[in-house]
Amino acid sequence: AVRVRFAPSPTGTLHVGGARTALFNYLKARNEGGKFVLRIEDTDEARSTRESEDSMVKDLKWLGLDWDEGPDKPGDCGPYRQSERKHIYADVAKQLVDSGFAYPCFCSEEELEAKRAEAEAAGRPPQYDGTWRDADPAAVQAKLDAGEPHTYRFKVPPGKVVAIKDLVRGDVSWDADSTVGDFILLRSSGVPVYNFCVAVDDALMGITHVIRAEEHLTNTLRQCLILDALGRARPQYAHCSLILGEDRSKLSKRHGATSVDQFRQQGFLPEAMKNYLSLLGWNDGSEKEIFTEDELKQSFDLRRVIKSPAVFDMQKLRWMNGQHLRALPDEELSPLVGTALVEAGICTDAQGEFVAACTHICKGSMELVADAVPQVQMMLSYPLVDTLVSEEAHEIMEDGFVDIAKAVLAAHEAGELTPASEADAAAQWKAWIKALGKTLGRKGKRLFHPVRVAITGAMSGADVGEQLACLRAAGGEGVEHVSLD
Ligand code: GLU
Repeated sequence: AVRVRFAPSPTGTLHVGGARTALFNYLKARNEGGKFVLRIEDTDEARSTRESEDSMVKDLKWLGLDWDEGPDKPGDCGPYRQSERKHIYADVAKQLVDSGFAYPCFCSEEELEAKRAEAEAAGRPPQYDGTWRDADPAAVQAKLDAGEPHTYRFKVPPGKVVAIKDLVRGDVSWDADSTVGDFILLRSSGVPVYNFCVAVDDALMGITHVIRAEEHLTNTLRQCLILDALGRARPQYAHCSLILGEDRSKLSKRHGATSVDQFRQQGFLPEAMKNYLSLLGWNDGSEKEIFTEDELKQSFDLRRVIKSPAVFDMQKLRWMNGQHLRALPDEELSPLVGTALVEAGICTDAQGEFVAACTHICKGSMELVADAVPQVQMMLSYPLVDTLVSEEAHEIMEDGFVDIAKAVLAAHEAGELTPASEADAAAQWKAWIKALGKTLGRKGKRLFHPVRVAITGAMSGADVGEQLACLRAAGGEGVEHVSLD
C-alpha cells in the first residue's frame, strides 16, 4: 500500500512550495487509499522551533490536508519527530558499522580543514580522503576505548552507480564515489546528519513514494546509498520543479505573499488554495481548471506532474478564489462576508438581512471576501468627487446631470427610492426609473448612467435597484452611515 510523507523542517512558516509538496503527497495517498505521514524534521536544534511546527500544523489543518500518522496521531512508526528518534539513528549507525558499511573517523576539525585546503591546492575535489576507512581495527578500538571524539562515516562503495527513475524527472544517475566522499552519518556530538535521518526514517516508516522539491534531488544519492546498505527497498522518488515568481526567478518574499498564513489572512479559501496549488505543475490532461477537493483526490496522478517550473500567478489565484466563492451556497458565503463587514466596522450583525443583501450584490464580482468591504462602503456613503474624474464622468456631468441628481434627491426625500420590502424592490425600482425617463425625456445610457452615478456615486457596480434594496435592509441593523446625499 502507498505510504507517503510530508517532512517539513520547522524553521519558519509553511510556504506555498511546502504546501504544494504536502498537497501532492496527500492527494497521492487519498487517490490510492494509502497513508499520509507527517514527519517533523527537527534535528537542526539551532534552527528548529516548536512555534514553527505549531504554525505549520495549523496551516496544514486549515488547508484540510489531514494526515494519518504524525506527532499528534500515533501510528506504528513513531515517534514522528526526528528529535525524538535520536536513539534510533544511533542504533542504525552502529548496525552499519557492524556490517562494514560505516566506520568511526577520529579526524579533528583542524585536520579536516587542512585536508580540504590541500585538496583544493592540488585541484582535487574537497572530499574526505578516507584516512580512517581502512584503519587497523586494533588502533580504532584503542581510540574508542580511550573515549576519543569521533564521527561515523558512511563507506561509499567504489565504482557504484546509483540510478533512479524519478517519476517527474525521469532517469537520473550518479557515479557515487566521484560525487561524494565518505560522508558523515553521526557527528562527534552524536547528532545525526540530515540525509541519514531521512533515509532511516523513510525505511523504517515504510515510505513507498518520496514526493518533494527538486532541491532535494542531490540528497537522493546519499539517501539511496544508505538505504541500499540497510538492505531496504528504495522508495520511488518524484522531485517536483521549482515554483517561480512572475519574473521567473525563484518565488520569494520579494514577490509578495508566499506563506500560507498570509493567504489565509488575506481571506483566500482553503479550497481555492488547494485547487491553485494543485495546478502548479499538474493538470488532469484536459483544460479543466476548477477542481473540488473530491475531484482532485480522484484525478491526481503523479505521472502527470510536469518537469518545467511552475509560475505563481497571483491574479490567477484571485480569480480562482472568486470561482470558489461563487460556488459556495449563500448560507456559507454570507457569514464570511458578514464577518468582513463587521471587522470593517460597517455593521454589527454578521448574519442579518443587510449582510444577505450585500452578499447577493457582491457575489458576482468579488475575488476575495474582503472585496465586499469597499463595495459596500461605496454603496453606503459615496465619495462622489473621487469617482467623477474620468472623461466619461465629465460627459455625464455636462449632459444635464444636475437635473437628474435633483430628481433623484427629490424621490429619495419622498421615500420613493426606499423599497417597501425586498420582494418589492425590483419592481418598484423599474417603475420609478421608467417614469423618470418619461418625465425627463431620456432613455438608455443617458438615463441609467447618470442615475447610477447620482445614487451610488460610482460609474459601475451592482444593479442599482439591488443596491437600494440593500440600503433599505441597512436601515435597522446597526449600519453606521447610510447616506444617499
Ligand atoms: N525536511 C525537508 C524540508 O523541509 C524535506 C526533506 C524531504 O522531503 O526529504 O525541505
